[in-house]
Amino acid sequence: VNEELLKKKKEEIELLNEELEIIRATDSLTNVFNRKTIFDQLDHELNRTKRNLWRIESSIKKESHINIRTYGDDFDYEPIGELLDHYGVFSLLMIDVDHFKKINDTHGHLVGDQVLKNIGELLKDKDIFRTNDVSGRIGGEEFIVILPETNVNNALGPAIRFMKKLSMIEFTGMDDCPFKITVSIGISESSPEDTVKDDILRRADKAMYWAKQHGRNQIVVYEKIFNK
Ligand code: GH3
Ligand code: MG
Ligand code: MG
Repeated sequence: VNEELLKKKKEEIELLNEELEIIRATDSLTNVFNRKTIFDQLDHELNRTKRNLWRIESSIKKESHINIRTYGDDFDYEPIGELLDHYGVFSLLMIDVDHFKKINDTHGHLVGDQVLKNIGELLKDKDIFRTNDVSGRIGGEEFIVILPETNVNNALGPAIRFMKKLSMIEFTGMDDCPFKITVSIGISESSPEDTVKDDILRRADKAMYWAKQHGRNQIVVYEKIFNK
C-alpha cells in the first residue's frame, strides 16, 4: 500500500467530515446555526455559566486570595464595571420579525427569504456582535442570540446596534417597490436559579411578546418589566 496516498486520502476524508459537520449545524437559508445546534449551544452556555458561578462562590468562601491569570497588555483600556457584571452570567436575545406574513403576502416568498438571509448576515456582523456571541434560527422568522458573559444592561448595546443597522436596509419588493422591516426583541439574563434552558427561553419569549403587544419595533428587557 502506498503510504503517501493513504495519508492524503485520510486528510481528504477529515476535511469532508469537517464540511459535513458545518452543513449539519447550519441553517441553509440564513447561514446561522439551526434550531438543534443553537439549543445545544444554549445548554452548553448554561452549564458553563453555572460552573463559573460555582467557581466564584467557592473562591470567595475560601477567603484565600483569588488567583486570576492575566492576559498581558492586550487591551488598551480599563475594564468597566464589577466582575460579577460579566462573569457567571449570560444574556439571551429573542428576535422575531414584525408582520412577516404580510411581507410574504405582499412581495412573495422569495422576497421573504431574502429578508431572512439579510437578518442572518446582520447576526454575523462583527460591528454589531462579539466574536463569541452565537446566533441561530429557531423557527420561520424567529432567531436567538446567546451573549456569553453579558448581563441584560450590556446586552442592550448589541440589540440596539442590530435594530439601527436593520432600519437602514432598504429591501426591494414586488415591482421594485422599496420597503423596510422591523423586529421585536426580548432580552433576559441567566439566573442562578435556572436549571434548564427553557427557563431563560421562556423569559426572553415573554419579553418579546410584550414588545409585540405594545406596538412592536422595540426591545424589551424581561427583568425591567416582570418580576424576577
Ligand atoms: P408578528 O408581527 O406578530 O410576529 O406577525 P408575523 O406575521 O411576523 O407572524 P406569523 O407567525 O403570523 O407569521 C410568520 C410567517 O413566516 C408565516 C410563514 O409563512 C412565514 N415563514 C416561515 N418560514 C419562512 C421561510 O423560510 N421563508 C419565508 N419566506 N417565510 C416563512
Ligand atoms: Mg413575526
Ligand atoms: Mg414568529
